[in-house]
Order: sequence, then structure tokens, then C-alpha cells
Amino acid sequence: MKETFDVAIVGAGPAGIAAAYCLAKKKRKVIVFERGEYPGAKNISGGVLYGHDLAQVIPDYEKQRCPIERNIVESRLWYLSQDGGYSLSYRDKIFADERRHNAFTVGRAKFDRWFAEQAQGAGALVVSGTVVTDLLRDQQGKIIGVVTDRAEGEVRAKVVLLADGINSPLAAKTGFRPEPKSHQVALAVKEVIELPEEVVDERFAVESGHGVTIEVLGAVTRGMDGVGVIYTNKKSLSVCIGATVEDLARNKVRPYEMLELFKAHPMVAPLIKGGKPVEYMAHWLAEGGYTAIPQLWGDGFLIAGDSGMLFNALHREGSNMAMTSGRLAAETIIEALQAGDTSQAGLSGYGRRLQDGYILKDLKKYKGFGQFLRGHNEVFTTLPAVAGLAAREMLIVNGVPKKAKQKAIWRELRKTISLRRLAKILWAGWRSVR
Ligand SMILES: Cc1cc2nc3c(=O)[nH]c(=O)nc-3n(C[C@H](O)[C@H](O)[C@H](O)COP(=O)(O)OP(=O)(O)OC[C@H]3O[C@@H](n4cnc5c(N)ncnc54)[C@H](O)[C@@H]3O)c2cc1C
Repeated sequence: MKETFDVAIVGAGPAGIAAAYCLAKKKRKVIVFERGEYPGAKNISGGVLYGHDLAQVIPDYEKQRCPIERNIVESRLWYLSQDGGYSLSYRDKIFADERRHNAFTVGRAKFDRWFAEQAQGAGALVVSGTVVTDLLRDQQGKIIGVVTDRAEGEVRAKVVLLADGINSPLAAKTGFRPEPKSHQVALAVKEVIELPEEVVDERFAVESGHGVTIEVLGAVTRGMDGVGVIYTNKKSLSVCIGATVEDLARNKVRPYEMLELFKAHPMVAPLIKGGKPVEYMAHWLAEGGYTAIPQLWGDGFLIAGDSGMLFNALHREGSNMAMTSGRLAAETIIEALQAGDTSQAGLSGYGRRLQDGYILKDLKKYKGFGQFLRGHNEVFTTLPAVAGLAAREMLIVNGVPKKAKQKAIWRELRKTISLRRLAKILWAGWRSVR
């Protein structure tokens, strides 16, 4: 391609499209390359998006017919043993009123397509079915464009934004981002299970249009460092589970086996009963956290979203960080283009913007959490088993005095874990998130 663009973006996910939209709105000449047949074709997510971050890109997204599935009014946290589990949930009227769309579910195939159409409407060029295979550099090593798999596929641009997601051989190959280690990446599988809308309403006790998210920890990951989720869509449920690549390889567990076990759990099975599986997908997740974030800008380039490891695993916030980092990258690029300096120094405003906002602060706060889970495997093994036993014992009415039950639980606990170790886990857990 002979034309030179202000900005070439790799990837039409939330990060790339947020940037493209903001740049196009400011009349910058921007091209987005997407390897999928259309934006969203290659994307998977449990499906929760956050209105705050989307509104900072497109304030009237509702009016623009953003394809929202359900507005989340309740969040549940489950801690499961093999046959049972604890459930902690919080539902609030505010999420139906003033804070409506604080979080909502979407189907990524539909959402990404809609988002890309908004960017195209603002003037961005989105080229699907095209893989960016390399980056163009000048003699000083500054990035000056991209190489695609099309005939005459070199495209020159003043700035390149890498928004190509976690599985980014491009970022790794070019030395911007070291290859993630196996404990810094999780492999998740997701099944979308179709159910009539009123059945979803009934099973989750919500009004039409309202929804629930369930985050699941404990025995369902078969002792591995991982998490499961269930999200309500309009006429389906997203059921998803994953674990770090390190643990999956070490335990020789196939992700789909984990999913089958999850679906069969007595807390999960009644929710999906009678449903029809309509989609099955697998994808990597950026679990590395703060310490895995690479240098996010340099001479002629920036990195946004998952490609930059901007994912908060504890709060499963990734799409919001992607959209906001994309928006901040766009603001930085506009400033740099105005100043005529797209060198590393000229683009350094990106680091400042990320520092000032919530993304780096949040990731820094939880920087020890991944290490905590890796070092305290009992969170997925001994603790859910003992916690389950304790609840079961106390709830069974069999004429045994409660004091005797308490002693039996205590004995069982001491048999499986020392008090010193338990105190250490609790203390380390607290320290990793405080
Ligand atoms: C199972 C699962 C559940 C999740 N649940 C949630 C959730 O509920 N809420 C949440 O906020 N986050 C969730 N996430 C995380 C969220 O999906 C990501 O954080 C978010 O999608 C990151 O956006 P992105 O734009 O950086 O990357 P992506 O969404 O991965 O988009 C990158 C795009 O780049 C394209 N691409 C890659 N390489 C090239 C190339 N060389 N040339 C051209 N195109 C390329 C890809 O096809 C893709 O479309 C989940 C992730 C997974 C895997």
C-alpha cells in the first residue's frame, strides 16, 4: 500500500478499536488490521463489559445500539468443595438504577463488530482478514509501519499501536515483550449454553434484562491455580473455566475435562439443566499481572490491552483496561503527532496517563496475588475440602451435639493442615491484596 497513515493499529479488539475511534474522531488517518474474518470472529470473553470505560470512548453507546445482553445487578462468589460449596452474593438496587450498566454482558462477536462499526463511522479504516506479520523499522530501529500478509502488504504509519491481544507473537518477536512464562498465562475454555430467556430469569431470580455473574474458586479446578465463571446472557449462559498453562501441563489435565467436571458440579448442573451448548471456545488469558507488564511504548510504537498484560485477574477486568489503555494511547498519539515527535520521548505521555489512572494502580495493588496463589496451593485443595466438611457437619442434624461436631471439624482440620500453615496462608493472602 502506497498510502502513509498517521496510525496503524494491529488488532480490532476493545483496545485497538477504542484507540481507532478516538483517533478517527480527531480526524487522524487510522488503519486497523484484524486477522479474523470480521472483528470479534477470533475473540472470546466471559462477556462482562464495563459501562464506565466504554462511555469514556462512546458516551451515548446505548443510543448507538450497543448489543447489551443483560445488565448485571448481582455478583456471586462461590467457594466450592467437590460436592458442595459456599455462596456469597451481593445484589443492589443501585445497579438497576443510577449505576445501571456498571457491568453488563455482551457476546464478543456481536460487540466487537458493533464497536468496529462505530470506529468506521467516525472515519477509521478497518481491514479484516489480514494478519500483520512484522513491523517496519527505519535504519535507527524506529517503527515506521507494519508488514501484512497481503500482496504489497507493507503499510507505513507515523505510529504503530500493538493491540493484538495476549497471544502476540508479533510483540514477542520484535522484542517489545518477552515471551510470557507458563505461569503468567492461563488457558480458559468457554461453552455458551442456550436456554429460554424466562428460564434464565427464573433460575437466577432476576427481572427481564437483569443478570448475575458468578465467580468460582476451589475444588473445581482440580487443585490447579484457576477460576471458573458463569455469566447470564439474554438467552444463554457463558460457562467458563481455566487454569494456568503451567498447572495444566504439570497435572496433564485437558481444559475440556475441567469444563465437564465444572458443569457436573451440584451447584452448577441445575443452572444449565436442559440447556443446549451452542458455542465452544478456548483462549489464553493474561495472568502475569503488574510484574509481567513490558515496556509499553518506544520509538514509533505503543502497546495496549492484553498485549501489554493489562489484565486484573482477581476482578476479571480486562475489557475495561483494554478500552481505557487504547483511549489513553490515542490521546498520547494525538499529542505526539501535534508536537511532531513520535519518538519514545514524544510518546512518554502514555506512561504518565497510565500512572495517573486506575490501571497501573490496580495492577500494582494486586501484584503479589498471582504469586500468593502459586505458593499456596491449599486454596484449591485442602481449604475448600475442610471448609465443605465444616459446613456439612454443622448442617447435618443427627443428634450429635454441636460441641462434638466442632471438635471433629477441628481434628480434621489439624490432620490436613497445621495451624501455623493456615495462619501463614491467611496472612499471605491478606498481604497480597491489601
Ligand atoms: C475466557 C475468558 C473470559 C474473559 N472474561 C472477561 C470478562 O468477563 N470481562 C473482562 O473485562 N475481560 C474478560 N476477559 C479478558 C478480555 O477478554 C481481554 O482482556 C480483552 O479482550 C483484551 O482486549 P484486547 O483488545 O487487548 O485484545 P483482544 O480482545 O484479544 O483483541 C486482539 C485482536 O487482535 C487480533 N490480532 C492478533 N494478532 C493479530 C495480527 N498479527 N494481525 C492482525 N490482527 C491480530 C485478534 O484477532 C483480536 O481480534 C476474558 C478473557 C477470556 C479468555
